[in-house]
Amino acid sequence: MRVAFLGLGIMGSRMAANLVRGGFELTVWNRTESKAREFGDRHRATVAATPAEAAAGADAVITMLVDGSQVETVLRAAAPGPDTLVIDCSTIGPTAALEIAAEFPAVRFLDAPVTGSSPRAEDATLTIMVGGEPADFERGRPLLEAMGRLIVHAGSLGHGQMVKLINNSVAAANAAVVAEALLVGAKAGLDLDALSQVMAAGSGGSAMLELKAEPMRRHDYTTLFKLEHMLKDVRLCLEEGQRLGAPFQFAALTREILTAAAGRGHGDDDFAALIEPLEGAAGIRL
Ligand code: NAP
Repeated sequence: MRVAFLGLGIMGSRMAANLVRGGFELTVWNRTESKAREFGDRHRATVAATPAEAAAGADAVITMLVDGSQVETVLRAAAPGPDTLVIDCSTIGPTAALEIAAEFPAVRFLDAPVTGSSPRAEDATLTIMVGGEPADFERGRPLLEAMGRLIVHAGSLGHGQMVKLINNSVAAANAAVVAEALLVGAKAGLDLDALSQVMAAGSGGSAMLELKAEPMRRHDYTTLFKLEHMLKDVRLCLEEGQRLGAPFQFAALTREILTAAAGRGHGDDDFAALIEPLEGAAGIRL
């Protein structure tokens, strides 16, 4: 299968590398061309100068960009041919996914956002949630299995996106709760190792405690998932909730915390940096 991969950022570069390892014939394009050339030097892939050059003759086109307007612009430039399987792995929300799919009626479209940060993109253990027709899902399955471990057909077009937005909103709200728990503990003079150990062993445990408590305590915001992208996902989830008349109050509160962290200049940092404004509010630095 000939595959065009558009977008070689933190996630895309690692996912594309796994497609090469999986034996797919890959042509890559990236807005910043130097990254695509670097990728082409390290992996067996052809480097295209434009999205159209990458997509020409491809059986499948995969996009891994930031938001809906980028996916739309890049796909317009790529102009995928009839019956091409387009798989968008970016997190853009269901409304944008449906609008973009409607703009390309001749192609087969799957929304396939992913969870798991760069380490899981690297070792091909991402979770991938997919929206689209069952036949298209089956056609895309070999590609998805080369990039992820748990591949879930969530339902019709857009449902992969909605699952992803809800999941990330829960993760972000949970990370904020973990941050506040650490701050209350610190103000009480607790041994935070003891607090974390007990929480991790029981009902206070969570993936966010496991993954983000240590980086928060060290103020190590080495980027696995940009805070600005988490803010985008929570915002998109709230927009969908508003449209549907379903409140998501904890997500709304978390959006404000993420906004405050972005306002302090942490947009490009890992979202563990959401502890910064919470430290300000608590008047203590870990
Ligand atoms: P990233 O490192 O910022 O990469 C973004 C990619 O989009 C780069 O290839 C970038 O090109 C390209 N891009 C940005 N603006 C563009 C534009 N105007 N036109 C064309 N290309 C543009 O982001 P990422 O962490 O890989 O995330 C990609 C998507 O996956 C996002 O939707 C994110 O929410 C989602 N996601 C991320 C993670 C994670 O842990 N990182 C996990 C799950 C899902 P340049 O190289 O030229 O900047």
